[in-house]
Amino acid sequence: MIKGQPHTPPAAAPSLRRLQELERDYAIPTYVRNPVQFVRGSGCRLWDADGNEYLDFLAGISVLNVGHCHPRIVDTVREQVARLTHVTNLYYTEPALELSAALSRSSLGGKVFLCNSGAEANEAAIKLARRARPHGKVIVLEGAFHGRTYGALSATPQETKQAPFAPLVPGFVVVPKDPAALSDAVDSETAAVLIEPIQGETGIHVLSDELLRAARDACERTGAALLFDEIQTGMGRTGTLWAYEQTDVVPDALSSAKALGGGLPIGALVTGPRLADALRPGDHGSTFAGGPMVASAARVALEICSDPKLLTRVRAAGERLASALAALPFVATVRGRGLMLAIDLVGGLDAAELARRALLEQRLVVNATGPATIRLEPPLIVSDAEIDEAVARLEMLSG
Ligand SMILES: *Cc1c(COP(=O)(O)O)cnc(C)c1O
Repeated sequence: MIKGQPHTPPAAAPSLRRLQELERDYAIPTYVRNPVQFVRGSGCRLWDADGNEYLDFLAGISVLNVGHCHPRIVDTVREQVARLTHVTNLYYTEPALELSAALSRSSLGGKVFLCNSGAEANEAAIKLARRARPHGKVIVLEGAFHGRTYGALSATPQETKQAPFAPLVPGFVVVPKDPAALSDAVDSETAAVLIEPIQGETGIHVLSDELLRAARDACERTGAALLFDEIQTGMGRTGTLWAYEQTDVVPDALSSAKALGGGLPIGALVTGPRLADALRPGDHGSTFAGGPMVASAARVALEICSDPKLLTRVRAAGERLASALAALPFVATVRGRGLMLAIDLVGGLDAAELARRALLEQRLVVNATGPATIRLEPPLIVSDAEIDEAVARLEMLSG
């Protein structure tokens, strides 16, 4: 057996038809799935049940930053799951506390609350800020996405996602992405300003330095907490470990998830020194949070994504991909930073249809984040050859 490599061939996969029947009869229909069944992944590649190979330029929505089935993640999880899988946070386990230390040292220098997902990390951030300023308002920006649980959903000002589930959590205020408007909205009754430094789910919109500066200044002036949602931007995605490093602003706390677990589900709230002790014993908790298996995987993922050589490579790879995309005939604009990129299509082209054709005709995995916007977020280990191949596959769609 080769360490970290798949050593057993996948069992004969059920047919796609069978899975679609199971979905129809038994899955609560919250997802609109593409008609492909993936059975294996390695690096930037995926394979479907018929053995077809795909290039993955979505990485499970920026989860597989280290690539699929990274050998060090596979080995770590295999070893840990067989030794100790779960005990609860009533006891000490090394992976959770070593991960907390590594996350703090890699960023804001305060303390860490571990959880199981992005939405949960934002829930913890909101609770932290309200604990520090009871009953305080939470300011969020137009176009934000912070997750689907009630607190996170209340921070996600999108009519179609919020309206069916009213009433939402009170105290959330939406402001336009305008420095003056943001500044005016923040006062002594504001607990937090919650911001994605690059808005991901709504189409990769990089927030201006002026807007981030205005948020920082307003929080200084009023004592509100500046919270960065780095769930999608973090873990090296933009060419630095955290996206805030490429701004001149440091938040009071940040939330992480997605790529943090190297493919396994984990989230984290990381504070700076000021808010490190705002939450107290009994204030918050979660059964699975920081379990040995996911925490040990996350330590490895964090170490890989912190490597300065990888981060330099992400910036170069991002430039290569962005300029190749800009040259495609159906691309109007390219947006983003590092390997967090989106293209806007020229007039009339439907992004969902193009993404579907990319998948089914060219075996390239990307996704549409709007009617005319396609998002590309390959694993950070993507090679120049893979970038060129992906762009060539996209180019085939223009014919
Ligand atoms: C994905 C995402 C979330 C939600 O994370 P889940 O793990 O799906 O709950 C929140 N914020 C941002 C910026 C995200 O990209």
